[in-house]
Amino acid sequence: MMGPSHALSGATVWLAGSWALDQFADYHQSPLALAVGTAVCAGGALFPDLDLSGKVTTNQGGATVARTFGVVSLFFAEVMEKVSLGVYYATKLSRDPKRSNGHRTLTHTIPFTVLVGWGTTALCAAYGKWAVIGVLFFTIGLALRGLFDRWAERAGWVIVTLVSLAAAWFTYANLPGGRGYPLIGVALGVGCFVHILGDMITRAGVPILWPIPIKRRMWTMIGLPNKIALRTGSKAETVVLRVVMTVVALLAATGLVARPVLQRFDIEI
Ligand SMILES: [Zn+2]
Repeated sequence: MMGPSHALSGATVWLAGSWALDQFADYHQSPLALAVGTAVCAGGALFPDLDLSGKVTTNQGGATVARTFGVVSLFFAEVMEKVSLGVYYATKLSRDPKRSNGHRTLTHTIPFTVLVGWGTTALCAAYGKWAVIGVLFFTIGLALRGLFDRWAERAGWVIVTLVSLAAAWFTYANLPGGRGYPLIGVALGVGCFVHILGDMITRAGVPILWPIPIKRRMWTMIGLPNKIALRTGSKAETVVLRVVMTVVALLAATGLVARPVLQRFDIEI
């Protein structure tokens, strides 16, 4: 799947999940909390592809997400890719193939997803709003890059960075303090997980079972069979899938916003 589809899938899943919690579990979120969760989940849905490194020294290559914050994120992707490759070789069994690149390994596993979610929650609990603003800055940047890819491309990384900073600061100023913000970690973890599922429906597959060894392989790639797998960049992805996800996201958002608005006017629902 391409960047915009990944980001959109994160936003859609978060909105649909929030709607379900609102409807069936009586769990209500303020509009700001909803917007924050949606942005973090959309950004999180791009996070695993920050293992696609380019050449920092010559400023070439890398996934589009790796260019969100210019050479800084490109360097981060480079490090993430090498660490992933290191973990691959440290845990590889005899039938796992040789690799020269760590893309689609460590960052595309369940333990990584859990670690990111738990780590973010712990960070926000320990450092409160300052951790929140950092996480927000980072994920809003990724979400902007993913959801508005054409704009981000034209605007360049400096503008994207400034807009992310402004959005993170606005949220920081308006978010109620001292609650620990457990949902931010959850949103980031869910985003990573949604990314893995997105890659699974394309041809390449992901090592979702890691670290469970199967037939002397630790990194078994799991994905849909070629016949029914989604082709990256095909009409099925860029038109059908994106339209369906947008409709679901809009319906969920409308449903979520409708209740407080109706309540404000004292209308029973
Ligand atoms: Zn991926």
